[in-house]
Amino acid sequence: MTRTGRHGIPPPDTRWGQIRRHLAEVKAPEFRFTQLLMAARDSGAETFDEIRSLPAPLRYELTERFGPLLQPLVPVVVERGDQVEKVLFETASGARIETVVAHYRGGWSSMCISSQAGCGLGCTFCATGAVGLVRQLTADEILAQVMHGHWRRSGVGRPESIALMGMGEALANPNLFDALKMLVAPEFGAFSPRRITVSTVGFAPNLARLLREQPQITPTLSVHSPFPEQRAAIIPLERRFPLAQNLELLDRHTIDVRRKAYLAYLLIDGVNDTDDHLEALTRLVRTRIRPELFHVNVIRYNEAAGADPAFRAPTAAATERFVDELRRRRIHATRRRQVGADIDAACGQLHARYLSGGAISGGTSGTPTRTALGAPTVAAARARTAEGGGLPGG
Ligand code: SF4
Repeated sequence: MTRTGRHGIPPPDTRWGQIRRHLAEVKAPEFRFTQLLMAARDSGAETFDEIRSLPAPLRYELTERFGPLLQPLVPVVVERGDQVEKVLFETASGARIETVVAHYRGGWSSMCISSQAGCGLGCTFCATGAVGLVRQLTADEILAQVMHGHWRRSGVGRPESIALMGMGEALANPNLFDALKMLVAPEFGAFSPRRITVSTVGFAPNLARLLREQPQITPTLSVHSPFPEQRAAIIPLERRFPLAQNLELLDRHTIDVRRKAYLAYLLIDGVNDTDDHLEALTRLVRTRIRPELFHVNVIRYNEAAGADPAFRAPTAAATERFVDELRRRRIHATRRRQVGADIDAACGQLHARYLSGGAISGGTSGTPTRTALGAPTVAAARARTAEGGGLPGG
């Protein structure tokens, strides 16, 4: 016996899809799945057994079939800075990924989530690229970073927006599309697609699919250099899917959907911050079909463990100047501020430090705190999960 949800939610191949099917097979009433989802979303429960709205035999049944954990991730390290909390999660297979929540003035918070463990695209400025691809995350693992009970338990709660800008190239992972369906589904993440940003270095075939399937989601294309040769040296994917091909897709999108498209420009001292770069970047935006719908976010490079050691961060003043010069040329541009620079909020850095055996300890007042969660807890949860079986990617 199978049950299909509204609009194919949850997607049948996901763990949530399996759970829904399993409930049907054991003849649990349909509302039990809704209870389970509400608990996953709103209660802070981390195990099936904690969901007391479900009868005990059903909790036992789910634990036996899927393992004890409600979500297929365990938080192993938590770092807290001034406006930011960063969590290193571990999957059932032992892969580690990171998720960052940044709090902005006015009470707005944004969660930056990962799409892959590591990344195989080898951008030379990126700590995650230096790790290499460990594996694709499943749709459930992408979703679990947002829905994990850890956030409610630690008082962080639900973010206002989601950015797929953590570890990995989101569009190189086909599981992203099922994850997005669940993130926007009212019964799961319930996020407005307009509050979700997908960042890409230019994986053109899946950028086209994203714009077709989720036209309200905000795309951000990493430029980092307007010169193809230099861009290919920084972002090797340029050789497979050139920037020009990706910009054409965004051109079409701005015409069809009339929504903004974002270009990211990582400013690296002495590498891509010259007047020639300014002029070429300006030309690149001005020659779009709807240039007024393109916005350039300039990001100050943050020296990352594992990235090219020759790369240096520009000064804050140089970054401001670059943005001012773009604006003077009538390009919509802002400097994207990175809260949490005190805990290396750039992608992949917590992971890189963890792998290299960097110190993990408590902090003192005024400094970021970094806490390794109890190994026995993690090990026990994983052991129980392994016993229970059924976790994807395990
Ligand atoms: S910048 Fe993105 S695509 Fe490039 S190596 Fe890093 S994670 Fe991968």
